[in-house]
Amino acid sequence: MSDIFNNELFEAFAAASDNVYIYVCDMTTDVSRWSKGSVDYFGLESEYLENAANVWAEHIHPEDLDIYMEDITDVFSGKKRTHDCQYRARNYLGEYVWVECKGSVIRDENNNPLIFAGLMTRIDGQSKYDSLTGLLSSSELHHFDFSTLSGIAILIGLDGFRKVVGNYGYNTADKILVEFSRKIKELCKPSWKVFRFSGDEFLVIAFDAEEKEVIDYFEQVRRETDVIELENDHKIGISASAGSVLFPKDADAREVLINKLEHSLEFAKNNQRGNLVFFSEEIAKKHERSLTLREDLKECIKKDFKGFELYFQPFVIPGSHNITGCECLLRWKGERITDSYPMEFIKILEDYGDIKKVGLWVMEQAIKQQVAWRDTYGELRVSFNVSYQQFLEDTFEDNLVACAQKYGVNPEYIIIELTESCEVDNPEELSAMFDRLRKRGFKIALDDFGTAYASLEMLKCLHVDYIKIEHSFVRELSQPGHEIDYVIIDNLLEMCKRLGYDSIVEGVENRKVADIVGEMDVTLLQGYYYSRPVCRSDFENLLNADKENS
Ligand code: C2E
Ligand code: CA
Repeated sequence: MSDIFNNELFEAFAAASDNVYIYVCDMTTDVSRWSKGSVDYFGLESEYLENAANVWAEHIHPEDLDIYMEDITDVFSGKKRTHDCQYRARNYLGEYVWVECKGSVIRDENNNPLIFAGLMTRIDGQSKYDSLTGLLSSSELHHFDFSTLSGIAILIGLDGFRKVVGNYGYNTADKILVEFSRKIKELCKPSWKVFRFSGDEFLVIAFDAEEKEVIDYFEQVRRETDVIELENDHKIGISASAGSVLFPKDADAREVLINKLEHSLEFAKNNQRGNLVFFSEEIAKKHERSLTLREDLKECIKKDFKGFELYFQPFVIPGSHNITGCECLLRWKGERITDSYPMEFIKILEDYGDIKKVGLWVMEQAIKQQVAWRDTYGELRVSFNVSYQQFLEDTFEDNLVACAQKYGVNPEYIIIELTESCEVDNPEELSAMFDRLRKRGFKIALDDFGTAYASLEMLKCLHVDYIKIEHSFVRELSQPGHEIDYVIIDNLLEMCKRLGYDSIVEGVENRKVADIVGEMDVTLLQGYYYSRPVCRSDFENLLNADKENS
């Protein structure tokens, strides 16, 4: 047997690492020796193999065989100096794993091949290909020079995937990703490239494609992936949004392309969920504005919440104009941006985690205000909004209790509104906290009730005091054709009553609606008809007028 097999060096290298497998082949006899680790891991017949190239080829994933054969042929023929490629190889369990295979040929003085030696490294997770989906890894993007190519890049993101993971667990989430990526690859043209860009985002590079082609492609993706079928007939509904950029027209550098893709996807998710959106100047401006907002907001928070203010919108007792309390609504004016609405700036505060600080400020102002009004106007029921993120803070409960004690407020008059449409991951924990707060006397309201499909689910696990019925059912109640809204509200209110909840109907914009809802079994009303949210002094004017009339 050849000396090349029986030396200490081979043994030493063979034992070097768990993830590295070495081999050496005597090319004059076509006998090779494989390290013990490789025999075990890949389930080879023995350490010594004849005609190893063919034996090994049987372990290679059929889709990767061409890559391997081409490379090895080039090395053996002398066209290439070193063998170097990545492919999937079958292990002893019959599973394919990614390996990087490197090797070189040693030749005699007449250039005849003598020895072929090399090593294989398992590179699961850090390969050219994504180990879960088998798609190209995003690191492979660096091979493309978008200034010399033309086409359309599409960044596809699954909507609300965090919730899918929360609901079904990581295993199922992985299966969904695999199935989804298989579909998006299957539906694209063979010349296009598909990458796993990040967790639940996929990048498709549609070379030489027209806009119409890309629109049709995404439409098909949407149609064919809206329900993912897993084993045991388990079906899960998903939705995807996409951002799209033309290259080189809108981006000729990779970083610019990726930036614009991300902005476009973000825009799609926030404004046109479930759709494909092409990058535009509007998107660029929106992004620019959100950056400025973010900086301005941070600056204001640093300057002791300069520019933030609470507005107050009355709660009215049905059948009267009597004000019994108010919802505190946050307003903000930045140094550069002065026209931002709560929906816009609160989303940014939430996206960057700043809502926790600002929320604490809101809480303190609301509680302080309730106490400040007490002497003049009696105990008003004062509510403020709390984002789900704030509840997740370990300190939320302690802060609330400490703040209530500091100002000596009666918790019975403090209502905490939880926006119902938020994605609650852990309702049991939230429920336990609500129970503790309610025991202390605080009131909890489930906000925007009826907007999300999970409304009733939430109600089943959370004990609350108030249900706030969302505007959209209420606003057009008096218009013809809205009988269904009437039936919904009437039934929701009936349900609240039977379950022992107080109710607040929001969005009462005119007398007609006030009269219709006033006839129903509702605890409190709120809406522009009574007053828009107003600053403190205007709200006090309303309270004074109310006092005079009663
Ligand atoms: P929300 O909690 O549903 O608040 C009610 C929104 O409806 C307010 O919008 C209010 O101005 C508006 N509204 C009241 N009556 C009517 C009406 O009759 N018709 C119509 N069309 N709208 C009416 P606003 O002040 O723009 O606040 C928007 C959202 O921002 C709030 O929705 C709430 O989710 C959030 N928000 C406001 N302040 C805070 C805060 O301090 N913290 C947190 N986390 N969120 C807040
Ligand atoms: Ca609210």
